Order: sequence, then C-alpha cells, then structure tokens
Amino acid sequence: MERTPDDELIWQIGENVDRLIAIDVLSYGVIDALYRAARRANGDAPLCLTAARLLRERVSPGTTVVLTTGLILPGHHPYGETDGPIGTAVLARALAIGLSARILVLADPELTALIAALLRTAELQVIDPDALAAEDGRHRAVAAVAALSRENQAAANAAAGWIDGLRVAAVIAVEKPGANALGVYHMVGGTDISAGVSKGQGLFAEAQARGVLTIGIGDRGNELGMGPIVETARDLLPFGRSCGCPCGGGVADTTPADLAVVATVSNWGAYGIATCLAALLERSDLIQSPELEGELFATAKREGGVDGMTGRAALSADGIGMPVNQGVVRLLAEIDRAQSARFPSPFSTPLIRSGRSRGGMAPR
Ligand SMILES: [Zn+2]
Repeated sequence: MERTPDDELIWQIGENVDRLIAIDVLSYGVIDALYRAARRANGDAPLCLTAARLLRERVSPGTTVVLTTGLILPGHHPYGETDGPIGTAVLARALAIGLSARILVLADPELTALIAALLRTAELQVIDPDALAAEDGRHRAVAAVAALSRENQAAANAAAGWIDGLRVAAVIAVEKPGANALGVYHMVGGTDISAGVSKGQGLFAEAQARGVLTIGIGDRGNELGMGPIVETARDLLPFGRSCGCPCGGGVADTTPADLAVVATVSNWGAYGIATCLAALLERSDLIQSPELEGELFATAKREGGVDGMTGRAALSADGIGMPVNQGVVRLLAEIDRAQSARFPSPFSTPLIRSGRSRGGMAPR
C-alpha cells in the first residue's frame, strides 16, 4: 500500500487499530509472530487499513461481497462458535451500509440459521440468495445466506456460479477452517476435520482465477486465507509441519489470498477492518456500538453458538467475555475519533498532520 504525506493520520489510525486487535491478551504466544509475518507479506502496511482500502477500491454499489465463516464440531459445538459468525455480521453490516454492497454469506448448513439471525441483529435484511441479483445495494442493506458444500468439486462449482452471477467484488473468510497443501482441513491441535467442513479452498481459487479480491482473517494460522503466512505458521504451531494424522501435511493453511489479517480473536480482525472503513469513509456509524455488540453475542448464544475455546454456551468468544469485547469496540471507536477530536489549544501539540482540511482544526 502506497503511503502519501496526506495519509499520516489515517495510517496512524490503522496502526492503532492493528495494535488493539492483535494484542495477545491471554498470552497464547503465537499472535505477535503471526501478525509480524502478515505485515511483512503486506509490505509492512497496517493490515486492517489495507483490507479497508482494497475493499473501498473494489466494492461498488450493487456488487456482492462473499463472506464465509464458521466451524461445526459434532460433540463439541454442533451449531457453531461465537468467533467467526459475529465478526462476519459486523463486517457485513459495514460493507452493506458503508459501500452499498450486497452480502452473501456461505457456511455449513448447520450454521445458516445462526448466521441469518446475526445478520438481522446487525441491521441487515436477510433475503433469499436467488433474490440477491435483483438488489442494487443502495435501496436497502441486504444479505443472503447459503450452504456451502462439504464436497470439493461441488463447492468450487457453486462458488464459480455465485462469483459469475452476482458480480462478486471480494471474498472474505472470517475464522473459516483452511486446508494444507494436500487439501486436508485440521484443527490447530492436529485433528483431521475434513469430513465435516464445508470447503472454502475452491471458493478462494475460483475468486483468484477471476481477479476477485481475497482476504483471510484468522487467529492461529490454520484458517482459510492464511497462505501469505504459511511458512511462519508451519514453524510456529506445534502441529504446523506435522499434524500427527495420517496425511502428514501439517495444520497450517496454504490457501493463497491477497491479504491475511491476523487478530487475537478473528472477530476482532473483522471489527478492525470495519473501523478502518469507518475512518476512510468518515462514517463512525460503521463501527458497531457496544450495545449492538452485546446483542450480537446474545443472538449467537440463543441460536446455539458456543465459545469454541471453552465449549460453553456463554457470552464470550475464544474465552474472552462480552464486556471485554464491548471494551474493544469502545476503544476502536475512540481510535476512529482521532479524526474529529483535535481541538486547537495552546497546550496541544498535534504531531500528525491530516491531509484533509478540518476548518480551524489544522495542526499548527
Ligand atoms: Zn493431517
């Protein structure tokens, strides 16, 4: 991403957003290294800001953004997790309201009810996938949810049909299982979960073959779209190179993507991108309020979503409680507020210039 002198404030907002969403609050020990790898792969530009800029460039009213998310694990979380679907709903909201994009979310069939409920909580109208093509994106904020096949070829064929038929401008994975070079999908602990996973690799491949923007959001390195950091994930994760399952290919995802966004909790990566979109468009309403954040967690719990880390049907994601998530949202909004919070004062010394004129608030 090119940096111009006018970009100083936006760039600093991007840096602050990345710092917040990638802070290793529970000291798992891998986020810093994965984040740094993703930065290197992105020419050292802030990740969420890059994602927001690319989306603003590619997505125009009436084009479609495909989001894919979710993992079901029979015997642990048969109706999905709180991490992934909530971030997907937040990002869908920002893209639909901020860029007038049509939204299509693809997931395992067991997750479609939960995702539709979250999209409605996120203020979107949920319509039939077949009705999406007739929407102009400007008239109302709409989203559709469709099941993605667990069979490789069927999933790829369906993806190609959606991409061609719906003017798809971007494909984004949020905490969606990824595959190694052998096409095997794993939990980060090495378990082969391929049989129960709707297949996202073909979706990314079909998008890339058509020059459609692809972004992966993950928090461990085994998620779809983490190809840009695969070598670091292989080195870093205990089962990165050797999964221990018969495939022997390791758990690190190899799926190529234009950008990998690494966050402490994948949801936070989606929140960060929404925040940077808010900053770029000067639309602070694209960031969900703490109240909406709470409603999203309550919706996920009501629809059967559980905390994937603890297995509890709790108001938490990856072991981090809802009040902390609301705190992250408050801080993101405060980071975005840097654009308007500058007061001319003899005691203030603004060190960062903003390229845009803000009447009387220009740094001096
Ligand atoms: Zn394996």
